[in-house]
Amino acid sequence: MKGILVTIDGPAGSGKSSVARRVAGRLGVVNLNTGAAYRAAALLALREGADLSDGPGLAALASRVSLDPDGASIDGEPVAEPDLRTPEVSAAASKVSVNAGLRGVLLPVQRAAAEAARERGGAVVEGRDIGTVVLPGADLKVFLLADPEERARRRARQSGREAELDRIREAISRRDRQDSEREVSPLRPAEDAVVLDTTALSLEDVVSRVLDLAEDLRRVGNPWGNPQGNPWGNP
Ligand code: C5P
Repeated sequence: MKGILVTIDGPAGSGKSSVARRVAGRLGVVNLNTGAAYRAAALLALREGADLSDGPGLAALASRVSLDPDGASIDGEPVAEPDLRTPEVSAAASKVSVNAGLRGVLLPVQRAAAEAARERGGAVVEGRDIGTVVLPGADLKVFLLADPEERARRRARQSGREAELDRIREAISRRDRQDSEREVSPLRPAEDAVVLDTTALSLEDVVSRVLDLAEDLRRVGNPWGNPQGNPWGNP
């Protein structure tokens, strides 16, 4: 039997990564962070001095990126997590990800990684457009929201940069704008997503809520069953 596919989408600082990691751990399935693929493409573009608005150039660079539960690789070489997390790479990832060609290259990469994980028991897949575009037929879709001020505080705390709260708030709001206003795959909840505002919730509250939803799904008698029997949704 194939495993469950859970999608967790939402803006920067909404708690996606922490929630996805814990939910995956508790369900005993894999956690896939698709942002790592966009970050790796951005890192490669910065390293090569590429023009961040050159569509075909970016698509060619993205074809050198792969994704698995341990993270992203470039030309088959795993990229160290800290290299993907710098403010420069965060800003560049949001910039390059408006590009349709690059997204088209990364789409099958993300789907293949999710399908491989599903064959091995299931996956919690996090990103921006996972419920809407990458895995529209997923079993459970969650969209996390949080007040921008709270998201900036979480990011500052997480990265130990409390003194830079203003700069972080500004960077987050720039990314929010870019991610939600882009034409291709903008950040928005899928129609069948459960939207959770996490502003006043603890991490454990959010994790329990998502696990409850997964448990409800299991109890309705279609264990991890995809309603359409097709994780990519109907054409
Ligand atoms: O999730 P994370 O902050 O690591 O993602 C970095 C950037 O990659 C986001 O700001 C967004 O622009 C892009 N992204 C995306 N679609 C995804 C995941 C990430 O456009 N599924």
